[in-house]
Amino acid sequence: MAVRNPRMKKLETNYLFPEINLRKHDFLSRNPHAQLISLGIGDTTEPIPPYITQALTDGASRLGTRAGYTGYGSEQGLPALRKIITEQFYPNRINHDEVFISDGTKCDLGRLQALFGSDVSIAVQNPTYPVYVDGSLIHGVSNIVYMPSNPENNFFPDLEKIPRTDLIYFCSPNNPTGAAATKNQLEKLIAFAKTNHSVIIYDAAYANYIKDPLLPKSIYEIEGAREVAIELGSFSKMAGFTGVRLGWSVVPDELTYDDGFPIRKDWGRVHSTIFNGASNIAQAGGCAVLEEEGLKEIAVLIEYYLENAKILRSTMEELGYEIYGGINAPFLWVRFSGKSSWHSFQDFLDKYHIITTPGLGFGVEGEHFLRLAAFSHRENILLAVKRLRPIR
Ligand code: PLP
Repeated sequence: MAVRNPRMKKLETNYLFPEINLRKHDFLSRNPHAQLISLGIGDTTEPIPPYITQALTDGASRLGTRAGYTGYGSEQGLPALRKIITEQFYPNRINHDEVFISDGTKCDLGRLQALFGSDVSIAVQNPTYPVYVDGSLIHGVSNIVYMPSNPENNFFPDLEKIPRTDLIYFCSPNNPTGAAATKNQLEKLIAFAKTNHSVIIYDAAYANYIKDPLLPKSIYEIEGAREVAIELGSFSKMAGFTGVRLGWSVVPDELTYDDGFPIRKDWGRVHSTIFNGASNIAQAGGCAVLEEEGLKEIAVLIEYYLENAKILRSTMEELGYEIYGGINAPFLWVRFSGKSSWHSFQDFLDKYHIITTPGLGFGVEGEHFLRLAAFSHRENILLAVKRLRPIR
């Protein structure tokens, strides 16, 4: 028999969603007719709009013809898609050779971690999207620094108190807090990374939810980022591609390891060795997302979820809840001082029949918070806010 990779044992049992399910089933056994509303899971709910769906369909149909059939493509991704991503998101900042198409940000994170090996030290925000830590543990990383990010520091770590690490994971707009970093904060982060010779892995999976024109949508809007940052982008939440699977990474030429070797070269090698490129159908859809018609469609989609967030946020504010996020992000982060996050979770379930996510699942700094996701049908959001209002 093969021996289990000891690194797998280091992963904490993922108790969060199983425990949520357990509590949900327990609740339903006591209340079999209750109509539960889920504001818990961060998955999209609305259909992919028609222009983009047609491009996916056409992409699939072409494969059924001799003239249109394609097999393996460029491991780095369709040149047309890399070009349109560059024009849309990084005009005059990034060259399309620095863009790598993938099957999504989560998958990119796992492969990126392979680039740096097990001896690296990493820093993550606390609370954090769990994949940065769990993926690193699978790769044997043990030196992990947690950077508290809470309302008291505007969800931006006090960098003077943070030790140097090789990698810094930073997510903006943030899952779970919904905070979007300001230009000034990113300038500090870049200066910190430069001083310490650290590489920032900037997760911009929710960048398209930023509506405030003063907030940067990409770290490359900040001077000096090309020398210190890798950026990850995703079609998942921007176009409803969570199931289609499509994303990208940007690794600028200037970014090197400590011996001066370009990281981009190794990244290309990883892509061709353990990936082989994203689905050609998904890439056909991705091109359509970034064409004029597709951009109009996704603007409507994103506006829909942001309006959901606004409805939740304004009602809860009016009711006196302490709320963060939900303006330039599809997540609301709600504080319940003095109450554990599981206690608040249970309250929401028992009183309002609403499923949320306990903040503790994202790290100890999440202990007194709940995360509410705005990915839901509008009728559920309206029903949820109706339930939250006290009966007069
Ligand atoms: N990054 C963050 C912060 C996320 O919240 C998610 C999905 O929930 C992902 C990445 C994964 O994105 P993808 O679907 O592109 O793998």
